[in-house]
This record gives sequence, C-alpha cells and structure tokens, in this order.
Amino acid sequence: MDLASDLVLYSARAADAVAALPKQLFIGGEWVDGSAGATYDVLDPATGSVICAVADARAEDGLRAIRAAHEAQRSFAATSPRERADILMAAFRLLHENIDRLALIMTLEMGKPLAESRDEIAYAAEFFRHFAQEATRIEGGYQTAPNGASRLLVMKQPVGPSVLITPWNFPMAMGTRKIGPAIAAGCASVVKPAPQTPLSMLALAEILVEAGLPRGAVNVVTTTDAGGVTEQVIDSGLARKLSFTGSTAVGRILLGQCARQVMRTSMELGGNAAFLVFADADIDRAVEGALAAKMRNGGEACTAANRLYVHTDVIEEFSAKLAEAMAALPVGNGLADGVRLGPLIDAAAREKVHGLVSDAVDQGAEVLTGGEPLAGEGFFYPPTVLTEVPATARLMREEIFGPVAPIISFSTEQEAIAAANDTEFGLVGYVYTRDLDQALRVAEALETGMVGLNQGVVSNPAAPFGGVKASGLGREGGNTGLDEYLEIKYVGIAVS
Ligand code: NAP
Repeated sequence: MDLASDLVLYSARAADAVAALPKQLFIGGEWVDGSAGATYDVLDPATGSVICAVADARAEDGLRAIRAAHEAQRSFAATSPRERADILMAAFRLLHENIDRLALIMTLEMGKPLAESRDEIAYAAEFFRHFAQEATRIEGGYQTAPNGASRLLVMKQPVGPSVLITPWNFPMAMGTRKIGPAIAAGCASVVKPAPQTPLSMLALAEILVEAGLPRGAVNVVTTTDAGGVTEQVIDSGLARKLSFTGSTAVGRILLGQCARQVMRTSMELGGNAAFLVFADADIDRAVEGALAAKMRNGGEACTAANRLYVHTDVIEEFSAKLAEAMAALPVGNGLADGVRLGPLIDAAAREKVHGLVSDAVDQGAEVLTGGEPLAGEGFFYPPTVLTEVPATARLMREEIFGPVAPIISFSTEQEAIAAANDTEFGLVGYVYTRDLDQALRVAEALETGMVGLNQGVVSNPAAPFGGVKASGLGREGGNTGLDEYLEIKYVGIAVS
C-alpha cells in the first residue's frame, strides 16, 4: 500500500470511529447536552479541518457534574477494593481490545503518529492495571502508644470528590494516571479534558461504563471555558481534591483557587529538562536517548529534553549524529504509515515554537537542520537542531514544546550541573556517562523530581512521576500515586 492510499484508508476508519462516539457531556452515568445547548469544533491538526463538534459546557454543567460526583461519593467509597480493582482490570482489557480504534481517534485529534498513539494507549492502560493491583493493598496501622495507655489506629479513606484536569499532549494517559488512582481509592471525579482533545476522554468514559463503573463515579465535562467552569466547581465546596496536569502558569492560578477551600492538590506542571552528555558517554546511545527524550510525542511532552548540554570533547560528533538522525525522521499526517513526526497541536503552538527558534538564531545560534515552519496545510514544524545557543536565548528558560533540540557545550561537571539547575523548573534531567561515581553524583545534584540515567524516557506507571520547584507538587504513579487520593484518619483508643 502506498503512502497516499493508507492515509485515505486510515482517515476513513478514523472518521467512522469518531462518528460512533458520543459527543455529549457524561454526567451521573448519562450522556447529556450542555445546559446552553452549545457545541464547539474539534480540529485535525494535520489539516486544520473540523473533525466534529462536541458539547461546550458552561459553569452550570460543571456544577451538575460535581453534584453528581458528590452524590455518588458515599456509595462508591463503600464498594470493596476488589470491586474497584475488577473495574480497573476490565477497563485495562477493553483499552487493549480497542487499541486500534482508539489510536485512530487520538491521532486524528492530537496529530501524533499512529504508532505513538498505540504506545500511549498501552501506557494509559498500564495505569489501570497498576492501580487495580494497588487498590487491594491500601494499608493502615495499629500501634501501642508510647505510654501504653492507649492504642493508635490509623486508617486510610478516600479524599472525596476529585476534579481532574488534563492537557492535550497525552489525551488518554494523563487521564488514566488520575482516574486510575481515584477509582482505586474510591473517589468519584469530574474530568475536564483539554478542549483540543476531548474525543479520547469521551471514548474512555464509554469504556469505563462497559467495565462496570457505577453511575456518577466518573463524570466528563468538555468545555472551551475551562476557567469559568472549574472555578465554580472549586468554589462549590463539593470537591475535596484537584489534580491538574498542565502549564505552571495555570497551575499557579488553580493553587490560589484551591487555597480558598483548603483542597488537596496534585500539580504536574511544566518542565525544562536538561540532557547532559559527558565526555566518556557512549555517543550512539546518547544520540538514541536524545532522540527519544526530544522527539517522543513530537517534543510536546513535559519531560522533553529542552536543553542539551554536551561536553566540548564530544559535542561535534554528538551534534552531527543527532542532526542526521533528526533530519531523517519522516514528517507528515500521523495517520500515514511510516510517519515519525506529526503536526504541532495548533497554529499558536507552531508560532510559539518558531518564535523561540527565531529568537535563538537572532542571538547567534546556528541551525544544523530544520528551523522554518513547513508550508501547506496543518501545523507542521520540522525536526530542528541548533548549536552555539547563547544562555540568553528564550528557549533556555521557556518550555519549547516542539521538535527543537538546542545544543550547548560545557567543560566541567560543576558547570553542567549549575547550568542544568539554572531554571525555575525541576521535573526531570537526563545524564549520559559511563562513570558510575559521576552518574550518582550528578543524579543527586540535579534539582529535579526524576532523572534518566543513560535512558531517554522515564515515564513508568510503577514509578513516582512528578517534579520539584515550579514543576509541581505530589507524584503520580508508583505506590505514592494512590496516596494522593487518600486521607489519613487516626483513631485513639483508650485501653483500661
Ligand atoms: P494548559 O494551558 O495549562 O492547560 C492544561 C489544562 O488546563 C487544559 O485542560 C486547559 O483547558 C486547562 N485550563 C487552562 N486554564 C485553566 C483555568 N484557569 N482553570 C482551569 N483549567 C484551566 O497546558 P497545555 O498547554 O494544555 O499543556 C501543556 C503543559 O502541560 C506544558 O506546560 C507541559 O509541561 C504540561 N504537562 C505536564 C505534565 C507533567 O506530568 N508534569 C504532563 C503533561 C503536560 P483550556 O485549554 O481550555 O484552557
């Protein structure tokens, strides 16, 4: 099959998959229209054309959804851990059974190549399996008080109704990373997906219903008025927790709003990852890792390598090899076979990425490959490698969120660590070296929540994912991911 004919075939299948999806709000176990009857268009970033329209919720609908979650909370919390684990395992299986259909929907609305959409759905499903296992292991404690006069009983209980806000870059996995532990803990929730990518979340809601989720335990509200809807939901006093994945700027606003209700918060915010390549590193392995750290999800990832610091002894070899590998990546519609880089999410994102590249070039950076937006329909930007990037370039401080790799040289370990830490963010850092002492020294010195040691991808449902500094609060995944949805209650017991 040639490239054009498989694009036609997959486009038709994707359109069929979207046509079969509900496009309404999912509240209290029912598919319902928004109160104002409004809808908005979802766009295909590869063509700029309209895929379909979905319900556009108003604040009133958000309030309906949090009331539904609040009503469902008591009975959902009373279900057994095994029941909740079974729902999660059923949803895990259904995600795999539907992976081809879901990948088409995701690629159509988000743009990433089909293979990456399949990877994301498998990764998303893994959160359900992980938290299905964790659901049955929620522990407490029993202890004799030091003076022997009483007993200390400690139990964990669901936090309560939770608001889950997700971004567009991983439309399914950023949802299951929150919905999985919420279900495992027994928290009913209201999910607000990003407006660019509501379809994957609507498909997930259908799957959760098929998996046996009780009415009201998960509600989904699609809207173009995120601020208006969520602020009222938070102010309602009915929500006890907010988990947010998105930019630091919005995270700061939401933290302020949650402070008014003294709500529990988990904040997975922006990153500015440094990727360090030391002189003794295996350069081919480092290039392969850089390709993964930079180009996974087209660079539209909070974990994306934003600044590549390379030792002066190996910078020439590393830069040439990375530029060659990046330039060889086929760019195009993610539905076509063989494509490795799809479009950016929208016109504004492409403008932002190109603005950052232009600023670096104006300040003296050299372009090894790419550097100009691609002409034609859709929001495509080519793989771009820059060297000689000055420390004053804006992309050294701001998240690029695109396929652009700025390379900077360093001479000493101290210099590399200082440069890596010279940012308000602290999500992840990557270190390539064969020297074990150096690897551990640098891993400990990096001011980040996560470190990739000779590996370019750290995301793993079994690991505690999250950042320090302005990259966030709390962790998702691992066994700590469940604690984010649990309160601790202590009961003092008198013993006579
Ligand atoms: P964003 O603009 O912050 O939006 C994230 C979500 O928040 C969207 O659903 C958005 O809806 C909503 N939102 C925006 N303003 C809001 C408000 N005032 N009240 C309530 N909700 C609001 O981020 P994005 O551009 O979609 O996503 C990219 C960002 O997410 C990057 O900074 C990336 O690093 C970060 N991210 C972090 C992680 C992590 O785990 N640390 C993972 C993935 C992404 P609207 O679009 O309608 O405003």
